[in-house]
Amino acid sequence: MTTTKSNLTQFEQQLVDKAVEAMERAYCKYSNFKVGAAVVCEDGEIVIGANHENASYGATICAERSAMVTALTKGHRKFKMLAIATELEAPCSPCGICRQYLIEFGDYKVILGSSTSDQIIETTTYALLPFAFTPKSLDDHTKESNERSQGAEEKK
Ligand SMILES: [Zn+2]
Repeated sequence: MTTTKSNLTQFEQQLVDKAVEAMERAYCKYSNFKVGAAVVCEDGEIVIGANHENASYGATICAERSAMVTALTKGHRKFKMLAIATELEAPCSPCGICRQYLIEFGDYKVILGSSTSDQIIETTTYALLPFAFTPKSLDDHTKESNERSQGAEEKK
């Protein structure tokens, strides 16, 4: 949903501000495209991240994955909300790799913001990646494989 920053809760506005502040931690000497992220962990801790580029471009780490990896390293495993900000006036969407990375930890709110405008997009990890491959896919595979093995055993 497209909206403006003033329509967010005060907490969500502050989260977007933290994502904007995190942009200053970016290491983006190749693209000069700063991205900041701030994730709210289950216990309320807010962890920030920024994009970190590399001369071998494929080794670049996006801001949202940077925030998530930092939070995971601190021991967090469940997340309530994530804000991401760039300099683009129209909020910029996470890349495909990040969408996959974020959905690993379930369905939670994602707020896309801007350091140069009040435009906001409110979405969720599930909305960003329909028909996703998730941990449930692997659980289902194990369950179905076991059922097929049992069925084969019963036919013997
Ligand atoms: Zn990304």
